[in-house]
Amino acid sequence: MKVSKAAVVSMLALASSLSSQQVASVMNSAGSFRKDIILAVKSGQYDTHIPVTVIKGKEKGPVFTMVAGIHGYEYPPVIAVQELLKEISSDSVRGTLIIIPIANIEAFNKRTPFISPLDNKNLNNAFPGSPEGTPTDLIAHLITKEVISNSDVFLDIHGGDANEDLIPFVCYYNRTDTPEQTAAAYELSVKSQIPYIISYPYTITASEPAKYAFKQAVQQGITALSIEAGKLGNVQEDQVALIKNAVYRMLEHTGNYITSKKTKKETSKAILLNRQEYIRVPQSGIFYSSFKSGDTIKKGEVLGFITDEFGHRKQDIIATSDGIILYKIGTPPVNQGETLFCIGYHQ
Ligand SMILES: [Zn+2]
Repeated sequence: MKVSKAAVVSMLALASSLSSQQVASVMNSAGSFRKDIILAVKSGQYDTHIPVTVIKGKEKGPVFTMVAGIHGYEYPPVIAVQELLKEISSDSVRGTLIIIPIANIEAFNKRTPFISPLDNKNLNNAFPGSPEGTPTDLIAHLITKEVISNSDVFLDIHGGDANEDLIPFVCYYNRTDTPEQTAAAYELSVKSQIPYIISYPYTITASEPAKYAFKQAVQQGITALSIEAGKLGNVQEDQVALIKNAVYRMLEHTGNYITSKKTKKETSKAILLNRQEYIRVPQSGIFYSSFKSGDTIKKGEVLGFITDEFGHRKQDIIATSDGIILYKIGTPPVNQGETLFCIGYHQ
């Protein structure tokens, strides 16, 4: 980002100034425009920022937010959003788009999977965040207060991280006490044309920390969903294209994007998987498996095995349900307790 072009919004340091709704004040300025904003994040000796772009159209419409780079090593989401920033002008927008191109800029720059190199915390485990914590807590807090609270639709774009083999899917929470938002999230999932739709159970209370960004949005009663596409630390042009297509389809559906192009009719062949089974790493070691994401597996099947560092085979990994491998660890090292496989199925 060219900082010279950015409207630098100074949010000097501390808690008192963080409630000042800087993004909202940009959104509410008159006219149709694009503004690139820097939200300053100062915590202890750390000084970082969140880049935010606001694109406002001439006509009124919903506020659609998209976020990439909550995990800085997941490149297809980041690159897809870079291309969308080049392609979408305020002339083609109805309502407002809020775009966070790289939420965890330190993880992106330092190439750290999952966590921030500043405080070793996972931003996608930190919501709603805190104005008085470490940089990750503060970033989560700012996204919650400045962005999620001002959104009608919240889309968080992820992919398989550096060590994750993953098939693309779109996911939402099946929150039953906000049926309208849940139905809207499902509808957007169908429109995305991503082949697998995952529905997660929603069981947290109003006061429990949501932890995940899009779950935070769901907790606040906002229509929210997430895309997962790409894997193993690669950019993958086909996954970039898949994400862009999904975003354009969603923006057309919400009325946020004005286009004269005729899009192909929905094939609506998406497969809904409403149950997930997680197989955890039983002991640390070196992991071997000939299975890939997208493979169909049967309960009881041997999915791989773990050896110690001397090469002794210590433990087989057994499938605990029938289903499809949504993601798995795709590189050799595994640590006890990590998610080794996520299996999706329908019930
Ligand atoms: Zn992620």
